[in-house]
Amino acid sequence: MRRKTRTVLVGGGGITGLTAALALARAGFRVELFEQAEGFETVGAGLQVSPNALAVLDQLDLAHRVKAVATAPSAIQVMSASSGRQIVAIPLGTHATERYGRPYLVVHRADLQQVLASACADNPDIHLHMESRLDDVATHANGVTALVRQGTAMNEFTGLALVGADGVRSRLRELHFEAGPPIYSGLTAWRALISAELLAGKGSGGGNTESTQLWLAPNAHAITYPVRGGRYLNVVVITRAPLEAQSASDSDGAGEVKAAVRNWAPSFTALLDHKARWTRWPLYKAPRLRRWCDGPVALAGDAAHAMLPFAAQGAAMGIEDAAVLADCLRRAGDTGEEAGTALAQYEQARRTRVARAAQLARTNRLIYHLPPPMSWARDIGMTVLGGKCLLARQDWLYRWTPKKLEDPY
Ligand SMILES: Cc1cc2nc3c(=O)[nH]c(=O)nc-3n(C[C@H](O)[C@H](O)[C@H](O)COP(=O)(O)OP(=O)(O)OC[C@H]3O[C@@H](n4cnc5c(N)ncnc54)[C@H](O)[C@@H]3O)c2cc1C
Repeated sequence: MRRKTRTVLVGGGGITGLTAALALARAGFRVELFEQAEGFETVGAGLQVSPNALAVLDQLDLAHRVKAVATAPSAIQVMSASSGRQIVAIPLGTHATERYGRPYLVVHRADLQQVLASACADNPDIHLHMESRLDDVATHANGVTALVRQGTAMNEFTGLALVGADGVRSRLRELHFEAGPPIYSGLTAWRALISAELLAGKGSGGGNTESTQLWLAPNAHAITYPVRGGRYLNVVVITRAPLEAQSASDSDGAGEVKAAVRNWAPSFTALLDHKARWTRWPLYKAPRLRRWCDGPVALAGDAAHAMLPFAAQGAAMGIEDAAVLADCLRRAGDTGEEAGTALAQYEQARRTRVARAAQLARTNRLIYHLPPPMSWARDIGMTVLGGKCLLARQDWLYRWTPKKLEDPY
């Protein structure tokens, strides 16, 4: 057993940062992870975890823990928001498991983060620093030194490399990569959790807790799926909204969502009769970056490539990044320069795939939000293709698996 003397610093304890910490520890590093928040998120909404993301969690021996808090929907029912009729059903469930070797899951974001955070807390090679804000970095021959604000103190930490997983508003990206601020997409996501008990009580439509439903309308769409063992239905409505019209506090989220879906079928709008807290989430993209790495400093996840959620791949790409960068760093020597070369390989390995996922999200945005008469052609096209064929078109995405790691140190 080799002693872990090489340290990697990770800025940000979201899904990407936590997965990166676990992958790095497994690849033989000590990890210092800095998260600015006091604790990990306990609120929030749902997340679809596709088989490619689950493959990484599997490699980290966490798939069983994720499965225990997740649901495997039987299908994605694509619905017409105007008629309330199903356009096509894309089979998931056992069909996805047979096709990709792993299920397609849906989970509450906080439940996934909790699985990752507790695995980090249990790992003696990972040191989690909460209430610790990464403020600045300097690179040198031995790697990188980070300046971290911890309460009123400013502390320095040194490592072979630093991974910036500090999200779409990444400070590291702005400081070290001279990038502009995130770009507002013109779209807002409204999110709510509706109790399955309430849904059952009222017997309303649109409240399917067996499958995922994707509702398509002109300039808007919604997605619903079960989370927390089917106890809640996660509902997300994405509409156009000018940024300036969005106040920070939304006293009447439900009112705004109702107005946005007023022409939709009753089988969907009935969902809004249930008491729920609707939260607004303006959607941003990361600015285009010339590079994600600079010597021993690399960006990962949303910090590098935040994309719109139309392909449900933002977190999945961050999870994949984590596995690839840990694998590249594992092969590096002990100098900052060698770490830099390894991180450049990471970027090279990831760029094309991430760009393809982001392109899929942009294409889906166009397709989902088509107005009539183009939407009629879309609906006919989807029906003719059929659910199995629509799923097979994503094989390149869902079939991805990380390289096999050598045995842990
Ligand atoms: C409506 C919606 C639906 C989505 N659905 C899906 C889906 O179904 N599937 C999917 O794969 N993806 C989905 N995504 C995308 C996914 O949520 C993101 O891609 C993912 O959460 C990004 O994770 P991250 O760790 O890279 O960034 P973040 O989650 O933003 O985490 C960054 C962390 O860094 C911390 N931080 C920030 N600055 C600092 C600093 N200076 N120092 C220390 N810590 C700092 C923050 O507090 C935060 O904890 C969705 C997104 C939206 C908006």
